[in-house]
Amino acid sequence: MSALEIFDPATGERIAQVSADDGASVAAKAAAARAAQAAWAEVTMAERLAIVRRYRAAIVDQLDDLATTLTREVGKPIAQARNELNGLLPRLDFFVEQAARALADEPVFEGGGMREQLSHVPLGVVANISAWNYPWFVGNNVIVPALLAGNAVLYKPSEYATLSGLACTRLLHEAGVPADVLRCLVGGAEVGSALLAQDIDGLFFTGSHATGQRIAQTLATRLVKLQLELGGKDPTYVRADADAKAAAESLADGAMYNTGQSCCSVERIYVHERIHDAFVAHFLAAVAGMRRGDPMDASTYVGAITRAPQLAVLEAQVADALAKGATLRAGGKRGAGPGNWFEPTVLTEVDHRMELMREESFGPLIGIQKVRDDDEAVALMNDTRYGLTAGVYTQDEAAARALLARVHAGTVYWNCCDRVSPRLPWSGVGDSGIGLTLGVAGLQTFTRPKAWHLRSP
Ligand code: NAD
Repeated sequence: MSALEIFDPATGERIAQVSADDGASVAAKAAAARAAQAAWAEVTMAERLAIVRRYRAAIVDQLDDLATTLTREVGKPIAQARNELNGLLPRLDFFVEQAARALADEPVFEGGGMREQLSHVPLGVVANISAWNYPWFVGNNVIVPALLAGNAVLYKPSEYATLSGLACTRLLHEAGVPADVLRCLVGGAEVGSALLAQDIDGLFFTGSHATGQRIAQTLATRLVKLQLELGGKDPTYVRADADAKAAAESLADGAMYNTGQSCCSVERIYVHERIHDAFVAHFLAAVAGMRRGDPMDASTYVGAITRAPQLAVLEAQVADALAKGATLRAGGKRGAGPGNWFEPTVLTEVDHRMELMREESFGPLIGIQKVRDDDEAVALMNDTRYGLTAGVYTQDEAAARALLARVHAGTVYWNCCDRVSPRLPWSGVGDSGIGLTLGVAGLQTFTRPKAWHLRSP
């Protein structure tokens, strides 16, 4: 085994070194998970639910330490790290409340001497390759329902969120998940790639479109269930009748929260020409009020950029937009080091020739474009290969519903943004992915349906 070094993106300082997996250890963990799965599938639902409740209690007990670890390794402001862990609790509650019903056998027909039933059988051994931006959310969206459904799980957290991934695994083991039923695989792309080569029954991936596509190609010749939760270029339209100040404040939060590093961050904004200037003024005031700096400071709102290479992506999008005629209204460049910093950046007079309006920014960077009417807004919102979320701000619910029905996205928002609910499925359209997590379907997705045709003698 080699070592993986972990750096604090806010300071550049090395904060930990952990043993990393290699091809041999990945194969050993996969074989152990395969051997352990059948017995886990026999454990009663009541016992599995009790384990998840103990896990939840441990998160509550250790929340401050877990949040500190998360902030140190990804540069997320500490208040937002706490929010992520607190936000995980209702997700766990939802899984606990729904699992028994969602996974129970279902009688579907009785007549003519026949009974027909449906049961939800675990897939077997499932792999979860995960992103760093919300490691507790995206990891647990897979791990917990997959375990409740009777699967063994091979969990490869992002190499940028390894300490949180190891903590999650440790807490689940301490709560009662047998060691081999959940294994954490430590490392980067090469470890993820080694995992794909194992005997797995499902691959649940959260990350970039480029990696998702590579994984789909690798698995194309094998009959492995594949789910991909990928990036987005999430648009919002502010109609002429919207409250410009309320919309601007809400959308500035949606664009800059988690330092813009959310899959459902607001990534482009279209504003009706009648309220465009007022909206921009309120938006700039909201951004100016966001404190950027030490992520461990409770008043910090904009933290560090987790992956250093993303700084060049952000710089290139700004340069491309300015070269094509955009106006820089705030920020626009890296912040001083050490660590990875980028100023909250706002551009206006943008259009769809610019990378900023087409490719995921994944940082504190936003373009605001003026539009003439609803039809132009919808056409621009749909002018993308992605389709994760989309939103409309307006006083008129009927108009919002009509507009959102025309927008290609897995999730749509009226007068809100950057929001995920455990009760609703989370899915993408187009290059934002295939499959789903969360909701009742997000429990059943870790099973296959088995059809029973029963005739009594
Ligand atoms: P990434 O694609 O760089 O990495 C994701 C994971 O894949 C990591 O664990 C990485 O080690 C692994 N990996 C990389 N190359 C691999 C390979 N060849 N084979 C197997 N595994 C490999 O993405 P990231 O930077 O961690 O995450 C950011 C992206 O994730 C953004 O695009 C964001 O929008 C997206 N995201 C989507 C959702 C969603 O729910 N749709 C949620 C969070 C993040």
